[in-house]
Amino acid sequence: MELFKINKIDGHAIQQIKYSFIDGEANFKTLNNNDVIDLSEYKESGIPTEDIKFSFMGDGEVFKKLKRLDALSWEIKYHDYDTNNDLNNNWEEDISAKDIRRFSGLMINLGYVFTSNEFKQQFLDEEIIDNDGETILTQVEKEVLYQKLLDKTLFKCGKVVNFSGWGGWGTVNGNEYSILGFAEHILKDYLKIETGFITAHEFGHCLGYNHSSNMTYPIKVNGVNTGISPVTSRIMNLFFERNEFPISIDNYYMPDDLIRDSSTSKTVNNSDRGACQDHVYHLPEVKRIQNRLR
Ligand SMILES: [Zn+2]
Repeated sequence: MELFKINKIDGHAIQQIKYSFIDGEANFKTLNNNDVIDLSEYKESGIPTEDIKFSFMGDGEVFKKLKRLDALSWEIKYHDYDTNNDLNNNWEEDISAKDIRRFSGLMINLGYVFTSNEFKQQFLDEEIIDNDGETILTQVEKEVLYQKLLDKTLFKCGKVVNFSGWGGWGTVNGNEYSILGFAEHILKDYLKIETGFITAHEFGHCLGYNHSSNMTYPIKVNGVNTGISPVTSRIMNLFFERNEFPISIDNYYMPDDLIRDSSTSKTVNNSDRGACQDHVYHLPEVKRIQNRLR
């Protein structure tokens, strides 16, 4: 049965609603037929949360776009990777509510890219090279990899400094999760310019790829930059042209968030688009690949 309908919940807000059966009408009609069920037995105890389902309905344009994200298994959590506020590491001292709001918008738009037919088609058509820097993935392997991207579960997201992004993984009690970090300039700019070069690169690391694979940095194939990053950048540019992203500057609900945060205590490197630090792969390898790209 439908307990209540919420017409609108503001982004990142908590809405508390009192069950009407606590001090009002306790008879509810079922959805399929008009049987009446008396919920007064729950007056004191409430209804166990596992028996409550939240369904998301609507027919607006933004809603339809968000609905497509159902194809993703992503669970996104935000994390302060620098609880000791160490000025010498690559994580921001504290991740703020503003960072999390922007990061959420970024993940929605990125999920929207990855679940698009355009991205899927171009990714499957792209030459993808494995971690040995040589082996070309077969069509079936690319399909499996694409699905793996959608089927990723937990992302523990944080804010990085000194580097544009960070990608890797960790395990807790045998369960693998992805580590994903982006810097201020990505969080500030993702609604204005395509950020596929960094964002897709870090997802490549989350999927287990190193810098010898073009699931991170592009590799030139017949003189053309090839890999997950160029595909993502192309689709992002296409969606900017079409004004298609679900989250845009026009509908982002706290415009002040998009102005650079001057309270950031560490130096943020805005210029080095290629910079990347990884949780799993060490810096000498990053340097080696960067040298190769030069
Ligand atoms: Zn990297």
